[in-house]
Amino acid sequence: MTSEGTPRPAAQGFSPLDAPKEDELYKCVHCGLCLNECPTYLATGQETESPRGRLWLMKGVVEGEIGLTPSVTAHWERCVQCRACEAVCPSGVPFGRLMERTLAQVRRLPGRRRFSLGHWLGYRVVLPRPWLLRLLGRLAWAYQRSGLQWAARRSGALRLLPAGLRAAEGLLPALPTSSFTPTGRVVPAQGQRRGRVALLAGCVMAVAQSPTIRAAIRVLARNGCDVLVPRGQGCCGALHSHAGERAQARELAWRNIQTFLEVGVDAVVTASAGCGAAMKEYPELFADDPRRREAAERVAAMTVDITEFLAKLPLRAPEAALPLRITYQDSCHLAHAQRITRAPRQVLAAIPGLQFVEMHDPARCCGAGGAYNLLQPELSERILSAKMDDVAETQAAVVATANPGCMMQIEKGLRTRKMRVRVCHVVDLLDAAYQREAPR
Ligand code: SF4
Ligand code: SF4
Repeated sequence: MTSEGTPRPAAQGFSPLDAPKEDELYKCVHCGLCLNECPTYLATGQETESPRGRLWLMKGVVEGEIGLTPSVTAHWERCVQCRACEAVCPSGVPFGRLMERTLAQVRRLPGRRRFSLGHWLGYRVVLPRPWLLRLLGRLAWAYQRSGLQWAARRSGALRLLPAGLRAAEGLLPALPTSSFTPTGRVVPAQGQRRGRVALLAGCVMAVAQSPTIRAAIRVLARNGCDVLVPRGQGCCGALHSHAGERAQARELAWRNIQTFLEVGVDAVVTASAGCGAAMKEYPELFADDPRRREAAERVAAMTVDITEFLAKLPLRAPEAALPLRITYQDSCHLAHAQRITRAPRQVLAAIPGLQFVEMHDPARCCGAGGAYNLLQPELSERILSAKMDDVAETQAAVVATANPGCMMQIEKGLRTRKMRVRVCHVVDLLDAAYQREAPR
C-alpha cells in the first residue's frame, strides 16, 4: 500500500521461465560474510553493489515490492559474476546460478540490450560461428601486424570509435600468427598410454590463444593421453549464460554435449576455467528437460580442468629446468566456481627451476568476467588496477593463470602500466619445460 492507503500498482516481476528459484534465494541470512570478498563492493563501498544487496533486490522483485526498473537491474549488471561470495557463503547460496537466471529475466525486458546491435552481433552472430570468429581473428591480426593498430593508438583515432568497440580494441591481445588447431584427428600418446581424452578448443580461445591450445595438446600427449579435438564442437555457451542468454546457451551446450558424447573418451578436458565451470553445470541449463538433462549430466561428469586432470594423473615432471620468477592468479571460475586452487599450484611445483611467489589475495577477481570488461569498463578497470598492484608487488617475470579471459585482461593491465611481465596459461609453462628436454 502507498502512504495514502491506496493499493500499490503491481511491480513488474520475474516471469516463470528461468526465474531465480525462491528456495535458493531465501537461503541468504544476511550475515554479510560475503561482502569483503566482493570486488564491486570493495571498489564502491555500496551495499547495492554487494552480493547481499543484489539478493535483497531479487527478493524485492519476487515479493512485488520493487519492479524491474533500470536503476534496479543496473546493480545486477554491475556484478562480475566472479562467485567469490558463493565460495564463502555459510548458507550455501548458489549466487552464480541466481544471477544468471536474474540476468535472463533482465534480457527479456523490452528495450534492453537484447535489441542492441553489438549484443546481437556478439552473442547471436559471431560467437556461435567458429569460422566467423576465425575470420575476424585474421582481420584483427592483419590490423596489428600492418602497423595500423600502432598508428591508431598513437594518433588517438580510437577515440572516434563507439565505447564498446574501443574497449574491445583495448583488450586485443597480441594475436598469434597461426590459429591452427589439429581438429578431427587423434594426437597419439607418448610413452605408456594412460587414457583417451577430448579437448575443448572453445571460441575466443581457439583464435586468440591457439598456441595455448596446442601446448595443452602436447602436454596431454606427453602425459600418455591420446588427444582428440573433436570436429563439430563450438562455443560452450558460458559467455551466453553469463549474459543471461540462456536459450542460446542451451543450444550451444547441446551441440557440444552431442559432439563429446559421440567421440567415446575417458574425459573432456578444458584449458579454460570459465568453459569448464559452465560445462560442469550443464545439467542446470536443462533442469526442465529430463531427456537432455541426462546427457548433460554425463558430459558434466566427464569434464575436467586441465590442471585438475594433470595433477590427478599425476603428471610426468619435466626433466629440464625453467628458471623464471612467477606468480599465479586464481581464475574466479576455477577457484570459486570449480573450487580448484591446489591443482594449478601442484602443476607449477612440478616444473624444476620455477621460483614461485604467491601474490596478495590471488583469488580476487581481475575484472574480466566474460564480457564484463566491455560492458562495465570503468568498474572493470578499477578492479583490474588492484590486481595489477598485487602483480607488481611480486616482482615476477610471468603471471600464470588458467582462463583465457583473465589472460587477456591481465595482458591489458600489463600493457597499460608498461610492465615488463608476461602472462600465460599454466600449461604454457609446463609445455615450455618439456620443450627444453633433450630429444628422446
Ligand atoms: S554470506 Fe551468504 S548468507 Fe551471508 S549475506 Fe552473503 S549471501 Fe547472504
Ligand atoms: S559474484 Fe562477485 S561481483 Fe557478483 S556479488 Fe558475488 S562477489 Fe560480488
